[in-house]
Amino acid sequence: MPDLPSLGQRLSTIDDQIADAARQASRDPALITRIVVTKFHPASLVRELYDLGVRDFGESRHQEAQPKVAALSDLDARWSFVGQLQSKKARQVRAYCDAIHSVDRDSLITALTNDESVVPLDAFVQVNLTDDQGRGGVLLGDLDSFVDRVENAAGLKLRGLMTVAPLGEDPRPAFSALRSLSEGIAARHPDAQALSMGMSGDFAEAIAEGATHLRIGTAITGKRPDHG
Ligand SMILES: *Cc1c(COP(=O)(O)O)cnc(C)c1O
Repeated sequence: MPDLPSLGQRLSTIDDQIADAARQASRDPALITRIVVTKFHPASLVRELYDLGVRDFGESRHQEAQPKVAALSDLDARWSFVGQLQSKKARQVRAYCDAIHSVDRDSLITALTNDESVVPLDAFVQVNLTDDQGRGGVLLGDLDSFVDRVENAAGLKLRGLMTVAPLGEDPRPAFSALRSLSEGIAARHPDAQALSMGMSGDFAEAIAEGATHLRIGTAITGKRPDHG
């Protein structure tokens, strides 16, 4: 049996693929942030990734992320919260994250707003491009006004838009749609043109459509221990 690729090999394979996709799109790979999503993995794996040079990490569940980030507070890492977030947990998440990619409700804006002179929290507005209203994200008809409210919230820095491509379909139309929406808000929000899109199975398509922040889990970390 051939040996399974190591963590370092998987990381460099994905980084090569990111660079290739960027070149094909005539984009500079240095302008693309690769966030490694470490949910369900122990702090020790984050440490290994850190030693391999990774600085941007993502988590999606507060009860798991909070102790993990605390155990890694000696690292100079940046943490992004990418999962659905309950308003009543938002203040706590804000305390240990540098960015939230799933801002999609007014109650979340309220909970994340901070009038004290803190470092602003990077905020991505999640857009729901599926027909399923139960999935996270702002519906298209509400997007413009919602984006304005995030922009005006004290202590939040609007960075751009985020989406998860619909399951079981070609992801490219969704990524293209997010890019168009971003262009649509560019006149009012010229500093909020970031696009958080692309996961293990679809990051190349996302790069082709202008992704600036990739959220990649299993392709780098391997199978998630508890939930495969
Ligand atoms: C888990 C997760 C990812 C990473 O998914 P992979 O398919 O493992 O790359 C990206 N975005 C969100 C919102 C997630 O919850």
